[in-house]
Amino acid sequence: MTGPSAETKMQFLYALRSKGVTDKAVLNAMEEIDRGPFVRGIFAERAYEDMPLPIACGQTISQPSVVGLMTQALQVQPRDKVLEVGTGSGYQAAILSKLARRVYSVDRHARLVREARAVFEQMGLVNITAMTADGSYGLPEQAPFDRIIVTAAAEDPPGPLLAQLKIGGIMVVPVGQSDTVQTLIRVRRAEDGLHYDEIRPVRFVPLLEGLGQDV
Ligand code: SAH
Repeated sequence: MTGPSAETKMQFLYALRSKGVTDKAVLNAMEEIDRGPFVRGIFAERAYEDMPLPIACGQTISQPSVVGLMTQALQVQPRDKVLEVGTGSGYQAAILSKLARRVYSVDRHARLVREARAVFEQMGLVNITAMTADGSYGLPEQAPFDRIIVTAAAEDPPGPLLAQLKIGGIMVVPVGQSDTVQTLIRVRRAEDGLHYDEIRPVRFVPLLEGLGQDV
């Protein structure tokens, strides 16, 4: 695999910074992880543009600057155990894997999980476990988590996910109706309860119930 040219890479990182991705560790992780292998088929040549792109199962790989801003908002620490709901292409999970100790990522589409795993393996990202599951229920067998990131829009932050957040933990989730602009919310669990703040408007595919019908 050749990866992007030095110039393409510089433009990619410049676009991230100009959209507000300023955290050094996040920028380093995004410099290290090539988005190319996560974008397949006819859109592959657009992998280094700051745009969301279609992937299999009618889903999308998020816009790089949105991935950067969400990762930044999550404030991942090196010893953290992170849960991602919505593996999709696997790109977000790959970036998290450079910042956290361990990443669990679930998607309701088995095909997406299978394809993402193949890329993780090819990149040698051994601290990611990707699984097919309905992520609205979290991952009780691995809970609690230091950080939870949801990359599909829910009407409200799902209760089971809030329950699987450690004290001192942070969750980032887009909330709102699926066909309108949603708000990216950050939830912190403190000793005295949950604290919410709004980060920015975003647009994500909806968090759906149950497993996808693909095999
Ligand atoms: N983070 C991804 C983009 C995610 S797109 C990336 O970096 O490419 C949103 C994903 O959420 C889709 O793949 C969709 O299948 C998944 N999804 C939607 N509802 C879900 C649910 N209840 N449980 C798990 N995954 C879900």
